[in-house]
Amino acid sequence: MILYGGAVDGRQNWRTALATALGEANLAASVAMDPEAIPIDEVDYLLLDADGPTVSLAKATRLKAIFSLWAGVDWLVCRDDLPRNVPLVHMAEDGMTRGMCDYVAGHVMRYHLGLDDFLSGRPARDWDTTAPALSSQRTVGVMGLGVLGGAAARLLRDIGFQVSGWSRRRKDIPSITCFAGHEELATFLARSQILVVLLPLTGSTERIVDASLLKQLPEGACLINAARGGLIDDSDLIASLEEGTLKHATLDAFREEPLPRSHRFRSHPRITVTPHIASVTRPETAARAIVRQISRTEAGLPLEHVVDWSAGY
Ligand code: NDP
Repeated sequence: MILYGGAVDGRQNWRTALATALGEANLAASVAMDPEAIPIDEVDYLLLDADGPTVSLAKATRLKAIFSLWAGVDWLVCRDDLPRNVPLVHMAEDGMTRGMCDYVAGHVMRYHLGLDDFLSGRPARDWDTTAPALSSQRTVGVMGLGVLGGAAARLLRDIGFQVSGWSRRRKDIPSITCFAGHEELATFLARSQILVVLLPLTGSTERIVDASLLKQLPEGACLINAARGGLIDDSDLIASLEEGTLKHATLDAFREEPLPRSHRFRSHPRITVTPHIASVTRPETAARAIVRQISRTEAGLPLEHVVDWSAGY
C-alpha cells in the first residue's frame, strides 16, 4: 500500500502519475490518496510534503520507506515523531533536476553576459565594441554537488564555464575542480566569480553565506541562492551589496515564505527575487522515480538518496 500524504490539491495529478508509473513498471500496489481514510498500519510506503495534512505515524508499523516529495528535508528532519528506523528518502527526479539546471543556467548566463545593462536600456557605455568575456574566461562555483548541484555544475561545464564545486565529501567529476570541507572553502570561493548555492539547510550550513564568506569572493562577484533562505545571513548579504563586494544577488528561497511585500530584498536595486520557483517536483517524473525506488526495495536492493539523520540531509 502506497499512501500519498502530500498537498490536497495535488491528489488528482499524483493519483494519475502513480497509476501510470506503476503500470509502466508492471508493479502491483494499491494507492490511497487520503491519509484520513486509511489506517496507517496498512501503509508500506508513505509520500509526504510540507503542504500535506499532518499524518500521525505512531501506529505506522508496516512502513518500509518514507518519501519526501521535496528535495530538501529540513522541514521533515525537525519532526520528532518520524521513525528513525524507517529509511527517509529525499526527492531526486529528472523533472526537478532539469528545472533546476534551467534556472541556474539562465541566471548564470544573465550575469555572464551582463544582460541587465542592456535590458535596463541604460547601458554603462552608449557604444562599446570590446569583445565580451567568453564563458571559458568566467569562473563559476557551485556550493553543494549533490543531485541538483552536481547536475547544474555539469551543465555549466558543458556550456564552457570554468566550474568549481564544493561539498562535504570529496567528489571526482571530469573537468570540474572539486573542493571539499571547510579547509578548502577559501580556495573554492576565491575562484567563484558567480557563486551558485545548492546546499541543504542543516545545522552545519545555516547562515553559511555570511560576511566572512562573502568577503572571500572575487570583487564584484554575483550570488545565486536556489536552495534555502536560512543559508544566507540576510543583513550580511545586504551589507556586502552596499559595500560593493557583491555586485548582485538572485534569491529564490527565503526565511519567511512567501517573502513579505515589505521585505527589503524586494526593493533592493541589486537583488532579484524569484518566488521559490527554481524547481519543483513534477508528479509524472517524480512518480516514476518513487516507483523505481519501491521496485528496488521489493527486489531487496538498497534505496537511493536516503537521508543521513546525523548529517541532517
Ligand atoms: P543533495 O542532498 O543531493 O546534495 C546536497 C549537497 O550539499 C551534497 O553535495 C553535500 O555534500 C553538500 N553538503 C551538505 N552539507 C554540506 C556541508 N556542511 N559542507 C559542504 N557541503 C555540504 O541535495 P539536492 O542537490 O537534491 O538539493 C539541494 C537543496 O536544494 C535541497 O536541500 C533544497 O533545500 C534545495 N532545493 C531548492 C529548490 C527551489 O526551488 N528553490 C528545489 C529543490 C531543492 P556530499 O556530496 O558530501 O554529501
